[in-house]
Amino acid sequence: MNPFPKISVVGSGPAGFYAAQLLLKKLKKCEIDIYERLPVPFGLVRFGVAPDHPEVKNVENTFTKIAEHPSVRFLGNVSLGQNISIGDLKKAYHIVILAYGAEKSRNLGIPGENFHNILSARRIVGWYNGVPWDKNIPIDLNTSEAVIFGQGNVAIDVARILLTPVDELKKTDITQHSLEALSESKIKTVHLIGRRGPLQAAFTIKELREMIRLENCRTEWKLDDFKGVAEVINSLSRPKKRISELMLKSLTDGSNEICEKKFKPIFFKTPLEFIGNNLKVSKVRLGTNILEGENINNQKAILTDLHETIDCGLGIISIGYKSTSIDESLEFDNRLGILKNNFGKIGNGLYATGWVATGPSGVILNTMNNSFGVAETILKDIENDSTLIQESKPGFNYINSILNKQLIQVVSWNDWLKINQFEIATGKKIGKPREKLVDIKKMLEIAS
Ligand code: FAD
Ligand code: NAP
Repeated sequence: MNPFPKISVVGSGPAGFYAAQLLLKKLKKCEIDIYERLPVPFGLVRFGVAPDHPEVKNVENTFTKIAEHPSVRFLGNVSLGQNISIGDLKKAYHIVILAYGAEKSRNLGIPGENFHNILSARRIVGWYNGVPWDKNIPIDLNTSEAVIFGQGNVAIDVARILLTPVDELKKTDITQHSLEALSESKIKTVHLIGRRGPLQAAFTIKELREMIRLENCRTEWKLDDFKGVAEVINSLSRPKKRISELMLKSLTDGSNEICEKKFKPIFFKTPLEFIGNNLKVSKVRLGTNILEGENINNQKAILTDLHETIDCGLGIISIGYKSTSIDESLEFDNRLGILKNNFGKIGNGLYATGWVATGPSGVILNTMNNSFGVAETILKDIENDSTLIQESKPGFNYINSILNKQLIQVVSWNDWLKINQFEIATGKKIGKPREKLVDIKKMLEIAS
């Protein structure tokens, strides 16, 4: 008789937890170990989702139930690529699932991108959400104009955090260090610059509506950007139609309102270079684009000879995340920034799911569906290939011997619960739902 499957999952974000959830549901008996680089779980649900969107974090309750299942073990503070390798995991487990996300940012590759105060949205998100290594990013909010490149929901999140009254943010789990900086912020205008048009904007309606309704902030569009939109509106898909209608409606709505702050989406512009003095950015030069192609969704931005320069004391690049290869044995697609895989399958017993496999797009629901699909593939493979779980495997005992040699303090689920309690108690004292710990040493101290 075959032994029961021993499964390791690398990454405790939505992809890892949802894959574990389906496997637990369908396998009669199994052992699932979830390895996480940080002492704390939940990936981008903790470190990405905006602090003023607490309802999205309710998925943590589902993940907690999964982690507390008797067949599941959370093993925090263990990094694949640093403490353990794919080879180690393959030796220890029948099935290895890589769900380690996409933790780098894409850049523009234009002159001046290395100036001070040009930062990736990813690091700013990490700064306000408590990523330990983003606590001290060199962000300077002592400037009136911020420019964000990219028009996805991450760009909108960052714009909203920069423009929201601090009194509102105080009630969230935003980090105290960012709250202090934001309360001194001089930013009055945030430009949100897209290379294509309103019909191609990547942000979604709920997020746009929030911007339009933001207290003491007026959304200002450029009327010229909307030429031809009304004419095609009836041919659009329902979500595109609704968001386009909202944009058209807000073109003139509230234009007489006096507000302290402005949110200015600008379309059809490609950043060409940052301009500044002594590495300090002061302007950005933008080229004007026209769109080429028949299908509205796939139209390409083509640069024309026209350009303009706008003031910019803070430049934020929000054109997507990307993943990295963390083990030499893995084949990596550098262009897409993902692990090479075939619907989640990498090789015998080795799988990838979530952003590391699909690329950095999609909400938690999309990631969940992807993980369920990959888990189904694993179940089929277990059923169809009796050699996959034939051999008995040592599981965590083997990995633990490797970690012991490195004196790694493995953080268990109960240890995380101590950190969780500490954060909630600290937050309570200052009227916040939680004050996140941003120092790994401190997390480990509380966990031990
Ligand atoms: P992640 O969530 O990134 O999880 C990967 C995990 O792997 C992390 O815990 C990481 O620490 C761990 N890890 C990394 N490297 C290693 C290693 N070497 N060893 C061990 N562990 C490792 N979706 C929504 O539905 N609503 C939202 O409001 C929303 N807001 C978002 C805001 C931002 C800023 C971003 C970037 C995304 C947002 N999303 C939102 C999308 C959502 O977060 C993703 O769909 C989802 O998190 C992807 O899950 P994942 O598990 O693939 O990656
Ligand atoms: P995204 O939605 O893919 O948006 C990326 C943006 O960058 C697009 O506007 C894209 O324009 C632009 N871009 C890409 N390459 C560019 C380049 N070289 N030059 C100029 N612009 C460029 O990515 P994201 O904002 O990082 O979000 C990632 C995922 O997380 C998305 O699925 C998003 O919905 C999700 N998320 C959801 C929420 C939420 O639900 N509230 C919050 C945050 C994130 P083109 O279209 O022209 O390529």
